[in-house]
Amino acid sequence: MSKLIYVAFDQLNKNYGALKNANPKTDLVVFVESQRMIADRKWHKQRLQFLVSSARHFANELQQAGFKVEYLKSTTTKSGLTQILKKNPKLKLVCAAPNSFRLRKDLVDLGAEVVENDFFLTSENLFTLWAEKQKSFTMENFYRAQRRRLNILMIGDKPVGDTWNYDAENRLPPPKEHDWGKTLTFKSDEIDEQVRKELPKTAWGELNQKIWGTTRAEALKQMKHFFDHHFKEFGPYEDAMPNSSWSAHHSLLSPYLNNGLLHPSEVVKAAIKKFESGEVSIESCEGFIRQIIGWREYVNGMYWYLGEDYRENNGLNANRKLLPLFHEPDKTQMNCIKSVVTDIKDYGWTHHIPRLMVLSNLALLTGTSPQQFLEWMREVFIDAADWVMVPNVIGMGTHADHGVLMTKPYAAGGAYISKMSQFCKGCKYDPKKRTGEDACPFTTLYWDFLDRNLEQFKNNHRMFQQINGLKRLSDVPAVKKRAKEVLAGLDKGEI
Ligand code: SF4
Repeated sequence: MSKLIYVAFDQLNKNYGALKNANPKTDLVVFVESQRMIADRKWHKQRLQFLVSSARHFANELQQAGFKVEYLKSTTTKSGLTQILKKNPKLKLVCAAPNSFRLRKDLVDLGAEVVENDFFLTSENLFTLWAEKQKSFTMENFYRAQRRRLNILMIGDKPVGDTWNYDAENRLPPPKEHDWGKTLTFKSDEIDEQVRKELPKTAWGELNQKIWGTTRAEALKQMKHFFDHHFKEFGPYEDAMPNSSWSAHHSLLSPYLNNGLLHPSEVVKAAIKKFESGEVSIESCEGFIRQIIGWREYVNGMYWYLGEDYRENNGLNANRKLLPLFHEPDKTQMNCIKSVVTDIKDYGWTHHIPRLMVLSNLALLTGTSPQQFLEWMREVFIDAADWVMVPNVIGMGTHADHGVLMTKPYAAGGAYISKMSQFCKGCKYDPKKRTGEDACPFTTLYWDFLDRNLEQFKNNHRMFQQINGLKRLSDVPAVKKRAKEVLAGLDKGEI
């Protein structure tokens, strides 16, 4: 044996990273199940089950392919690797560049040889070259550069259909009647059952069916299911929040992309194939491609570009403690929040609009600590890697970064949720009202938020319309009074 290849739980792929050129005759493959990763927080049960079971299955598959594998349980990844290095002092530790600052530091401390992380389509160097040329980090500009560079949905230098962006067509609200189709479930095997038995008492959420696959074969099955049954209608309804489906027409592929079981290149290839066969419209295809080669790569690139301290930003000085409703959906009467948090409790997932316009919007409007909200988002989502959540929460969701990522906050009142969801009809609050006992908390808090942060936003030309709207309100004192009541009620879990 000459090399000790460390495989992180989010790099589970034989064809990429440190395993790409691995040789079963000379390389020892090592996995570390870190107790810090599992038991130190209120992680969602499904998240733990998915990450650990996928790693154990993958370790087994490597063994079956002839590799010698060490699968260790240790307090931390670093302590596990230290232990195995002691046992094998002559072996050189090799890994692909880890996906978080902390793990990267640990691996460097251990003297690891770090090879390229090719689990993304854009290397850090390439992203830095792009970022250094930008006046502002507009995702749309990055996305267009990606389309050109990767030659995806392009005819020469022009986008297919002569339009880069089909967002305007992809914003339909949920129809009254619609068949949202089926969601796949998988059969648990012995490894899944064993992991389930070992889940710590600190874990949160439900774990009834196996909704998330834990092998590459299951990840591929999910991919096929999406392209065959949901892709067609994905685009138009990608922002819709229906009552009757937790996943709408979304792909549910992010967990597999984020733990390595799928690679973005194969997902993109399958999407283009469907589009070229004429089975799906350009609107659906472009909307999906934008998520994979645009948002996903952009967020990862910005995570590294903005540096380790970026997560500590609190530009709006928001210091409220995390509201109780985030862990206990019964602690709110707001139908939207209750539905979304219940879905998260049941599935460990909800799509980008409930994440941004319901959950993050509430954290933003209530002045919740961005760091506490970030920790919660990291704990409860099945696909919540550090690189995903830090820019999404600190930059996009809570505008805590002084506008580095987004030029204006994603703040909205009840009108947006009322338009894009079916939540408001069954709610005791009225999205049109901003004062009174039945006023929608989102609507009240939206105006209060603008008023509280007027100094910050008054010279932001992108906020002109909102600020003008505030100036036209005749009942600001009454709104502020109601906002105080709402915030107190939310803190107590009574609103
Ligand atoms: Fe949510 Fe307000 Fe609609 Fe109720 S009325 S569901 S609180 S947006």
